[in-house]
Amino acid sequence: KAKAQGRNCFEFFTSGLHEQAAARSKLENALHKALSNNEFTVYFQPIISHDKKTVGCEALLRWRSAELGDVSPAQFIPVCEELGLIIPIGEWVLREACREAAKWCSSFGAHFFVTVNMSSVQFIRQDIEALVKSVLQETQLSAQCLTLEITETLLADNSSNILQQLQALRATGVALAIDDFGTGYSSLSYLKRFPLSKLKIDREFIKDLPDDLEDCAMVSAIISMASNLQLKVVAEGVETSAQLAFLNALSCDYIQGFLYSKPLPAALFDKYIREFIAEQNNT
Ligand code: C2E
Ligand code: MG
Ligand code: MG
Ligand code: MG
Repeated sequence: KAKAQGRNCFEFFTSGLHEQAAARSKLENALHKALSNNEFTVYFQPIISHDKKTVGCEALLRWRSAELGDVSPAQFIPVCEELGLIIPIGEWVLREACREAAKWCSSFGAHFFVTVNMSSVQFIRQDIEALVKSVLQETQLSAQCLTLEITETLLADNSSNILQQLQALRATGVALAIDDFGTGYSSLSYLKRFPLSKLKIDREFIKDLPDDLEDCAMVSAIISMASNLQLKVVAEGVETSAQLAFLNALSCDYIQGFLYSKPLPAALFDKYIREFIAEQNNT
């Protein structure tokens, strides 16, 4: 096609590639400095139980770059993984999340949990068990209050002793959740083989509830299977009360989504959870 349209088109194409490469190297340079420039923040999104209590939160990384402005994690996390920067950045997120959560766990009970996203690269390149132990020790967060979110891709990795690593982590008292369930190379045998505690249904399956009958069937099947396997289910990306009503009718354990709250900076999450509790005491 490019050939048929002549030389200009080809030049346009090459300059496009050049611009892409320049943008990419700008992103890489900015990322290398981001941690030492204090450009990262951790936000917390509430996770609400079936009986409408805030039971925990997910820690989500935010980056405000001096040069690039706000960049979404969906864009920069894969680059961090390629550059190996996910190791120091992942450590930083874990430490921050545990430090903040330690306060919430002591105020709101030992059942409160914080979930932290872990990249597969961290498991392959680092001793996660040692890292988790030292962060828990340092922040005084009890292990039961921490859930690590892992992906189906990690469970499909047969090379890096993933099963042994996850068993060792589970033995420390930390819980494991499978994130974005249903979007990866799902094999149901994983749910039996790995020591998982929670399963997070990807927003992709939630967004068209309750109108899309196939999604309704899938979500209903996932919830009943999980409940039979003693796994707690989190529905991700819940935005409407119709979605909530559908999930409640299936006794979905936990809800996370804009319907309740967007991810919040630590101070606002703190405020949110206090107001939420006050409201409950008044009703
Ligand atoms: P995720 O772990 O599946 O996180 C959920 C994403 O859904 C978050 O996007 C959250 O802001 C968004 N979300 C929550 N509720 C709703 C809703 O009701 N509607 C819609 N449209 N979106 C909702 P975010 O924060 O942009 O993060 C994107 C992804 O980046 C995460 O997906 C996770 O895979 C990755 N990520 C974020 N923080 C970290 C981190 O600290 N470490 C690693 N390794 N990955 C991270
Ligand atoms: Mg997640
Ligand atoms: Mg997810
Ligand atoms: Mg995701």
